[in-house]
Amino acid sequence: MERTLAIIKPDALAGGHAGKIIDRIISEGFAIRAMKLVRLTRRETEGFYAVHNERPFFGELTEFMSSAPCIPLVLERADAVAKWREVIGATNPAEAAEGTIRKQFATSMGENAVHGSDSSENGIKEGRYFFSESEIVAGGADVTEA
Ligand code: ADP
Ligand code: MG
Repeated sequence: MERTLAIIKPDALAGGHAGKIIDRIISEGFAIRAMKLVRLTRRETEGFYAVHNERPFFGELTEFMSSAPCIPLVLERADAVAKWREVIGATNPAEAAEGTIRKQFATSMGENAVHGSDSSENGIKEGRYFFSESEIVAGGADVTEA
C-alpha cells in the first residue's frame, strides 16, 4: 500500500465539486485515511509549496491556496501516487486527458481543482504536513482491504 496527499483546492470546493471528487476517490479504489476542511494561512501554503519558491507563479499559487478553504486528504491504495496523478490529469487543464478531474473541473493552470503528490516519499511527507499521526486512521474495513 502507498499513500498520496490529495487536496481539493479552493476553486473546486467553492465551485461545489467536492462531493463528486470524493465520490471519484472512492470509486477509484482509494481508502481515505484522513480528511479535513481547512483555511490555510499564506505561511502554511508557502511551506507546503516551498519546492516552488523560485518559480514565477509562487506568489499567485500561495495567494490562491490561502484565499478560501480547501480539503486535504490522505489517500491509500496500491500504486496510489501514480494512480491519483492519472485520475487528476495534467497540471494544465488544456492538456488534461478526457475523463480526468482536472479536465472536468479545472479552470486554469493555477486554479486546477486538485493536488496530488509526485512521489511515494512526498506522499508521506505531505500527509504529515497537514495531519498528525493520530489523525491518519490506519486499517478499518474498506474497499482496498475487502
Ligand atoms: P502539479 O500540481 O500537477 O504537481 P506542479 O507541482 O508543477 O504541478 O505545480 C504546483 C501547482 O502550482 C499546480 O498544481 C498549479 O496550481 C500551480 N502552477 C504550476 N504551474 C503554474 C503556472 N505556470 N502558472 C500558474 N500556476 C501554476
Ligand atoms: Mg507537483
